[in-house]
Amino acid sequence: MKRALLALCMFSLYSVAAQQTLLHCGKLVDTKSGKILDQKTVIVEGNRIIAVENGYSDPRNDHDTVIDLKSKTVMPGLIDMHVHIEGETNPGRYLEPFTKNEADVAFTAAEIAKRTLMAGFTTVRDLGGSGVNVSLRKAIAMGKVPGPRVFTAEKAIGTTGGHADPTNGYKKELMGDPGPKEGVVNGIDDARKAVRQRYKNGADWIKITATGGVLSVAKSGQNPQFTEEEIKAITETAKEYGMQVAAHAHGDEGMQRAVRNGVKTIEHGTLMSEATMDLMKQKDAYYVPTITAGNFVAKKAKIKGYYPAIIVPKALAIGPQIQNTFAKAYKRGVPIAFGTDAGVFPHGLNGQEFGLMAEAGMPVIETLQSATVTNAELLGVGDRLGQIKEGYLADIVATDDDPIHNVKTMESISFVMKDGVVYKE
Ligand SMILES: [Zn+2]
Repeated sequence: MKRALLALCMFSLYSVAAQQTLLHCGKLVDTKSGKILDQKTVIVEGNRIIAVENGYSDPRNDHDTVIDLKSKTVMPGLIDMHVHIEGETNPGRYLEPFTKNEADVAFTAAEIAKRTLMAGFTTVRDLGGSGVNVSLRKAIAMGKVPGPRVFTAEKAIGTTGGHADPTNGYKKELMGDPGPKEGVVNGIDDARKAVRQRYKNGADWIKITATGGVLSVAKSGQNPQFTEEEIKAITETAKEYGMQVAAHAHGDEGMQRAVRNGVKTIEHGTLMSEATMDLMKQKDAYYVPTITAGNFVAKKAKIKGYYPAIIVPKALAIGPQIQNTFAKAYKRGVPIAFGTDAGVFPHGLNGQEFGLMAEAGMPVIETLQSATVTNAELLGVGDRLGQIKEGYLADIVATDDDPIHNVKTMESISFVMKDGVVYKE
């Protein structure tokens, strides 16, 4: 009897009309025009938005679902251009390479992925881990694990002793001599090989560490760490394999070299000069500020023992400057792509970035556009993500308050739909 009912149900589902979900939206953010629209109905069928109608439409069929978001502000799923989805900050982090197996990393990553999705981020660009990030991308895409759509750089590429050298700070017997396979390059041939290896391993983007960094066990947080020839070899090879390049950079010289040689996004950008800002505009390169991470490391560096001693002065010097640099870069017209560096601070707090960007002078509506349409375009999926529009994928989130008047509401997303499936209501 039960089986017969099910069969009947399935039959009617496919033969009569596909089931639809109607979202009654009190306010709807049109990320393309930058306008907030009132009283709309978004109709979702399968994983697609099939219509956006004026007013609150009635369901066509008994089996359709109506979700009441009349008191909420509805917007496309958020996109974070800079996360590290495999792990996150804690004072024991530097021991983890010696204590965690790949499976341990994977289970942690799965929990982080879910937390990120629940915070309203339905797509992320992961800028460096061990390779578990590629497996996680696949598992999420196959529906085995709840999480955001992942674009990943797999393992970041650095130079010997540079920010992405995985054996920095180890004793000599353990240092070994990591090479292109491990993402450490010296010279043009290495650079090409490292990119090709990332392609082989399943990366979607290439990440380089163009300058020193705060959290690596090394002295300089800002020196240039690649030659121009090496960067050029990386961007050219990446292009041949259909990938773009993101560059971690705090110091200005390394940033200049990166932008001059075809890097698409500059991460952190702490000591960016006006000349580099102008070059970025000219080259259509995007600034991914990660203010939340900068503020977090500056705060934690004051706690004794949270970071190894060599990191403390770097965190104190570099962390607090990012917001200021962002303010200048925004004012000067540098293209801005929303990104947080979650993992450096606890995942799920990504929404704090909106308030920090607004505090620095970017209107809230533009911060929302940056995290939706702009990022979707940058990821090459502007034709299906970043807007609530007919034909687009049903990645939709909502806040209790109107973020234009209360940007803090971006830190507590109350409704999450991804691919037409409701994860949080
Ligand atoms: Zn990062």
